Amino acid sequence: MSEGSHVSSGMPSSLKIRQQPYEIKFCSCGLRAPLISSWTDSNPGRRFFGCANYGTSKHCGYFCWFDPRVCPRGMEVGLYWTKRNKELQKENDALKRTVRRLKCIVGASLVAVTVMGAFFIRIF
Ligand SMILES: [Zn+2]
Repeated sequence: MSEGSHVSSGMPSSLKIRQQPYEIKFCSCGLRAPLISSWTDSNPGRRFFGCANYGTSKHCGYFCWFDPRVCPRGMEVGLYWTKRNKELQKENDALKRTVRRLKCIVGASLVAVTVMGAFFIRIF
C-alpha cells in the first residue's frame, strides 16, 4: 500500500553509527595518529595528525594537517594566544619553582621541629 511509511521511521538508535568528531588517521607505524595542536608562530593553534610514537626512537615522521591554513586574522588571534600561552607557561614554571622552594622550607622546618622536639623530650 503506502511505501513511504517505513522510510520515515528512524533507524533504531542501536544501529546508528556513532560519528567521530574527525576522521581517524593512521601513521606509518600502524597506530592511530593523535590530533595535536601546533603552537609555532607560523601556525598558531593549527591542528595536525602526527605519529603516535612521536618523541620516541620508533617515530615514523608521519605528518598531516587537519585544519586548513589560517587566514591573516586567525593568525593574529592565534599569535596572541600563542604568546599568552607561553607567558602563562613561564608563570606556571615560576610558581612551580616557588612551590618547590616552599616545600623545601616546610620540610626543613619539620626536621627542625622534630629535632627540637627530640631535644626537649630528652631534657624533660
Ligand atoms: Zn608513526
